[in-house]
Amino acid sequence: MTPVLVINSGSSSFKYQLLDMDTERTLASGLVERIGPSTGTGLARHTVHAAALASATGPAPTVLDATRIRELPIPDHTAGFAVMLEAFAAYGPSLAETPPVAVGHRVVHGGARFFEPTLVTPLVEINIDELAVLAPLHNPANLAGIVAGRTAFPDVPHIAVFDTAFHQTLAPAAYTYAIDAEVAASHRIRRYGFHGTSHKFVSEAAAAFLGRPLGELKQIVFHLGNGASVTAIDGGRSIDTSMGFTPLEGLVMGTRSGDIDPAVLFQLERRAGMTVDDLDDLLNKRSGLLGLAGSNDLRDIRAAVERGEPQAQLAFEVYVHRLRSYAGAYLAQLGGADVISFTAGVGENAPQVRAGALDTLGFAGVEIDHARNESAERGIRIISTDASAVTVLVVPTDEELEIARQTLSVARP
Ligand code: ADP
Repeated sequence: MTPVLVINSGSSSFKYQLLDMDTERTLASGLVERIGPSTGTGLARHTVHAAALASATGPAPTVLDATRIRELPIPDHTAGFAVMLEAFAAYGPSLAETPPVAVGHRVVHGGARFFEPTLVTPLVEINIDELAVLAPLHNPANLAGIVAGRTAFPDVPHIAVFDTAFHQTLAPAAYTYAIDAEVAASHRIRRYGFHGTSHKFVSEAAAAFLGRPLGELKQIVFHLGNGASVTAIDGGRSIDTSMGFTPLEGLVMGTRSGDIDPAVLFQLERRAGMTVDDLDDLLNKRSGLLGLAGSNDLRDIRAAVERGEPQAQLAFEVYVHRLRSYAGAYLAQLGGADVISFTAGVGENAPQVRAGALDTLGFAGVEIDHARNESAERGIRIISTDASAVTVLVVPTDEELEIARQTLSVARP
């Protein structure tokens, strides 16, 4: 058994997953949330997911609907890790008997500095902290998880896996904004791209599924979750991606606007008296599907479309219109594509979105098979016709597995 622990730490929560990398199976997973000083109104909550309970009782998980929830005060991430360790001791698998060989940490922003998974050292911690200038909401939270993790597991290597790393292959023409070059350089303003772990995983899974060498494939991957981005991948290398300096650019998302004329912000500041913080809140938290139709969940939007609600219909059309624009743009950047994949909550579950994104691309050799697209089948699958020149896939993403793989590649090269 080769256990690797994966930590995805947010400011007031962290998710964890223990995987056996001999089989790539999940042994245990959990979520610690509402970390912080107890306010009297709410306790922190630790949820241990089914796989943990099942794996405690035998090698093959069978109890797939069981979840254990505990509510208790958890003042900080270090206390959260102690609670996680208690759960492992109580439900298994025993970390005393088989400790993780390495711990992998998701880190959102690696700037232009980190282009591969990196062994955490004190210097790397300082760099992650310094990059908080670029990702003030995410990097400090990721670092809190690393610090707590290194306290809980002082004797194993900790590896940082960066969301931006996969996009470090973008050429200057793709990552440079056309603004004053000195202003851009002094504030590190450029496109970085995000969701890299998922785009890498999905493009590699697609190549493996089709039995074709990654190096020969031109791919477009649509990662459509609450956050959404699309990447053009040539021979396994990201050459263009829709998120930019921050995850706000690009596609229409659950609560984010995606692309917008920046002059709209000048106008709202001058005419509506909105502050920078108001505008940040508007574009990141009150826009996208939520801003257009009152819900950030595509299931609600689809249900409202079925009821004939015009705002929901418009929201859906705006969402799909943007997808189609990027599909065309990336076909042009790649000079055609061999594979187009859809992943994450919307991409894996919403056939109307997939069809809407690609229905006009017959001229480029993209032909969706509507019965395959609408099938309720799970798992990686083809949804294009046999005659389609471009193979269209649904590929369930697994960011934790990808982080574990990259972690192991550094810990045991
Ligand atoms: P995150 O970006 O938070 O990781 P996910 O990839 O889990 O999110 O995607 C969550 C989103 O997926 C939900 O907000 C919802 O819009 C969408 N979604 C989930 N299930 C379905 C479904 N069956 N049909 C349509 N959309 C779905």
